[in-house]
Amino acid sequence: MHIKVLQGDITKLHVDAIVNAANSSLLGGGGVDGAIHRAAGKELLEECRELHGCKTGQCKMTKGYNLPAKYVIHTVGPVWNGGTDGEAELLSCCYRNSIQCAIEHECKSIAFPAISTGIYGYPKEQAAEIAISTIIDSTKGQADSDFEVWLVAFDEETERLYHNAMLQYS
Ligand code: ADP
Repeated sequence: MHIKVLQGDITKLHVDAIVNAANSSLLGGGGVDGAIHRAAGKELLEECRELHGCKTGQCKMTKGYNLPAKYVIHTVGPVWNGGTDGEAELLSCCYRNSIQCAIEHECKSIAFPAISTGIYGYPKEQAAEIAISTIIDSTKGQADSDFEVWLVAFDEETERLYHNAMLQYS
């Protein structure tokens, strides 16, 4: 398993699956969700309508339509509420469940945005640590050593936090 950190726009990536930080309706929103829907085209919203929402920490998969990625894995991160509402475990579930979904669909590569760290207000450093530690844990013992996980930082600060967390956990 390889973890790669890069700064950029997740909608441009040629990977098997990109993860969307969606809201529970799955009917589109701002931030990375809006960018993914704009880039994928209106068929994505049509498929999302059939899914009837998604619970926090869970995920649902659709096709990628006009995106370079084959699939979109829509996951719903927790809204930050001070940290005592199970936010860390729910955020960890988003990463774990998305990786499992990708592996079940025989994906070789998956790219994540920094789930919950935008509109949902999760502190960026804690979120980066959860992302890295959960990814390392959930890919342990994976037979497929070529599986690639990309962490896509939209801003420089998030990129730096990922690099720091990588040093801490690897
Ligand atoms: P949430 O509601 O889960 O907080 P947001 O979309 O508001 O979701 O933010 C999640 C993260 O995605 C933030 O770090 C934001 O900067 C980042 N982001 C926004 N647009 C993009 C994009 N096109 N590619 C990658 N990351 C993005």
